Amino acid sequence: MAAILGVCWFVQRQQRFLLWLCSAFTLTAVSLGIRSLLPFELLNHHVVAVSALYLLGAWCLAMGFAERRNASTHPKLALLTSLITLVAVFYFTGINLYLPGRLHAFGLGIAVILLLPVSDVLRHERSKDWLDQTLLWSYVAYAVFTMLRPLLVSIFGPAGLGDAMHPNSAYWETTLISVTLYALLITVLLCAITIRATIDQLRDERDHDALTQILNRRAFHEAAKRRLADQRLYPMAVLAGDIDHFKRINDNWGHDRGDQVLQLVSSIFQRHVRSQDLVARFGGEEFVLLLTRIDLLGAERLAQRIRLELSSDNTTLPPGARLTISFGIAAITAPHQLAEALKEADGLLYSAKKSGRDRVYLPDRMYPDICFQNTVPQDSSAASHF
Ligand code: GH3
Ligand code: MG
Ligand code: MG
Repeated sequence: MAAILGVCWFVQRQQRFLLWLCSAFTLTAVSLGIRSLLPFELLNHHVVAVSALYLLGAWCLAMGFAERRNASTHPKLALLTSLITLVAVFYFTGINLYLPGRLHAFGLGIAVILLLPVSDVLRHERSKDWLDQTLLWSYVAYAVFTMLRPLLVSIFGPAGLGDAMHPNSAYWETTLISVTLYALLITVLLCAITIRATIDQLRDERDHDALTQILNRRAFHEAAKRRLADQRLYPMAVLAGDIDHFKRINDNWGHDRGDQVLQLVSSIFQRHVRSQDLVARFGGEEFVLLLTRIDLLGAERLAQRIRLELSSDNTTLPPGARLTISFGIAAITAPHQLAEALKEADGLLYSAKKSGRDRVYLPDRMYPDICFQNTVPQDSSAASHF
């Protein structure tokens, strides 16, 4: 099971809790292995070292759990607990031979180390996710059971704790069975969590543009379908934007600067839209926005604000250079109109480019007397700035 978790960590390196749990399982297995294989007399000489291995394993388990939930294991308290436990184990083995005392102290020490991160987890955000909840409560149950195990065996075991060191004793069998079952449960849960995290990550990579982190064309269409199905979000508008003379930016100041411009434009778009709106990069330097609960004039105002903010930006291009963008806007009043509106906005964008760039174009039906609404003076062509 340690190997399974190790492989899971290898696949999902950023999920470091898997590595902690792999270490926890390894240390516990080594400790249980030594205790199972060493003869009783020999074990008594090494009992402190073997217990230390088990305690370290418990701390690694707590670290894995804490790391997953952004909690603290309170390492100093854990170290103090471990030292006290080891002193008690040493006392009840070497000075005053009393097996139940040793087992109770050991069970209590392990439980305290395991429970140290739990209060943090409960105090902070409580994940509603059922896998995380199952992990939390099975972890707590295991810690409590570890603490109560000597007591339960002393009450219900046929020979109490008297023969606890015997390989066939009720205590030893309960220990091995509970550790194995818990390890199985946690491995299954963690594999499920890792698989889900991998799928989420792949889905995220599939849906988002790597450079700008906004939606790509595929994800835009998928998300747009959901928006279009919601009657409360109408009227909507599609806004097609294309950076002017972007090729010149690459040619003059390099591809990296071009990438920075794309990131700047995406962040400005995101800053201007509302939570239900969509911002996507359709390819190269072409962006598409789906704006909800907005009419064409509102969409135009938004596009103008973005255009002005971009042209007054002085953080990305060298002084004197002006960043401009052209827009085409189309309205959507019914779900089936998306494809048509995208085409219309694209056509208007093309017209905006042809008539000088750095402007916002709306459908001519908006302005029966004026074919297109030019909003900036003709001489503002971006070409002159590069
Ligand atoms: P127009 O004003 O007519 O839109 O001209 P333009 O130069 O902006 O458009 P054109 O289609 O001629 O050139 C787009 C350029 O965008 C060409 C391509 O090399 C560049 N490009 C596409 N994707 C990226 C990218 O991810 N990063 C960078 N830096 N450049 C890109
Ligand atoms: Mg362009
Ligand atoms: Mg283009």
